Amino acid sequence: MTEPSLSTLAQQPSCLDDYDPNAMSVAQARSFIEQFLNPVTETELVPIREALGRVLAADVTSPSNVPNHNNSAMDGYAFKHREGMQLIHVKGTAFAGKPFTGALNPREGVKIMTGAVIPEDCDTVIMQEKTVDKGGDYVNLLEVPPKGANVRLAGEDIQAGQAILTQGHQMHAADLGLVASLGITEVTVYRHLKVAFFSTGDELVSVGKPLAEGQIYDSNRYTIYGMLSRLGAKITDYGVVKDEPSLLENTLLKAAKEHDVVITSGGVSVGEADYMKALLAQHGQVLFWKINMKPGRPLAYGKVGDAHYFGLPGNPVSTMVTFYQFVRNALQSLMGSKSKPAPLFKVESTAPIRKAPGRTEFQRGILFTEAGQWKVKPLANQGSGVLSSMSAANCFIVLGEAVGHCETGTIVDVQPFEGVI
Ligand code: AMP
Ligand code: MG
Repeated sequence: MTEPSLSTLAQQPSCLDDYDPNAMSVAQARSFIEQFLNPVTETELVPIREALGRVLAADVTSPSNVPNHNNSAMDGYAFKHREGMQLIHVKGTAFAGKPFTGALNPREGVKIMTGAVIPEDCDTVIMQEKTVDKGGDYVNLLEVPPKGANVRLAGEDIQAGQAILTQGHQMHAADLGLVASLGITEVTVYRHLKVAFFSTGDELVSVGKPLAEGQIYDSNRYTIYGMLSRLGAKITDYGVVKDEPSLLENTLLKAAKEHDVVITSGGVSVGEADYMKALLAQHGQVLFWKINMKPGRPLAYGKVGDAHYFGLPGNPVSTMVTFYQFVRNALQSLMGSKSKPAPLFKVESTAPIRKAPGRTEFQRGILFTEAGQWKVKPLANQGSGVLSSMSAANCFIVLGEAVGHCETGTIVDVQPFEGVI
């Protein structure tokens, strides 16, 4: 299937109702981007430990039953069930990892440990506490347990051939252990997503160099580095690029040629966007949006060659907010992940929140507990350039378009950083 053209789609109201690049809602922008996210297709086989954080490209199916034998859930005696039975003649012991292999006649049984294989001639286990040792290899049953009691059946947990992890699953620590428990040594994952990034701006200086009058250190390349590294992308840092069309052009084209995704920060706001627009119009299909949100109003998205392009606003908080709200999920889809974004949850605000209806805001807050209740304290300085607010915060307070001013005690939606960032 040929991919729909971005500009065509942007003009087709059926594809996105009320498309207006100057008033895109957060949800509209997200669903617009989603249409173009075809996951990488190349796969590789990696040893279990290297699979941490990677996305499965194929289901992992169990080669065997788990447990692989019927085994005992208790320390006790295994025997063949028979109503009215009073005595077991104990012919041996079955240990975990050391089965009893002999044959047993009716009324004969074995002493059995938890996890030990149930001998072929037995179907039931009576727990030790429900027996009395009569001496001479005989035990008395205080009661006859139901047939099959205290036996964990083969395949009870996982059946041979069953998919235990499915394609699109992002591997966590427990999954590594689960895979190992089945004796599997390698899994098939999608290849790493290749992501390039650079900062744009005449005023920017890389750390390690002195600042001249009016210059500032480039911090976005560090936050972007951190956010991309946490996602497990294979990254290339193209440094700071001056606001000069030929330099931007060269860097952009080189980055797009060699990567799946290119992310820039700066140069997409009104007044700055003109030559980026001209450049991107020449080499790709990129749309410049003003999103109904704060911070992070200007955002560019499109394709440069085969690469996806995200142009993030330069203000340090805006860069991070737009990354988390648009880029992160997009990259996860491109990595083949089918995991859903973490849900928001509702907590009480311990201070008033200034907000006008009409746009979505992602304010920075500190989640804490008071008398066993989760609460959120909005940070005082919500400026889009105040990076220390992102550093001090542990959550976004997500205030939807319809939300207006919030008094102290208002229940608000929060998105915790932990598990996301
Ligand atoms: P821009 O989006 O290029 O208009 O930049 C908006 C604001 O963010 C300006 O004050 C820039 O100086 C600042 N800014 C842009 N890029 C960076 C960066 N990489 N690191 C720190 N601040 C930046
Ligand atoms: Mg700039």
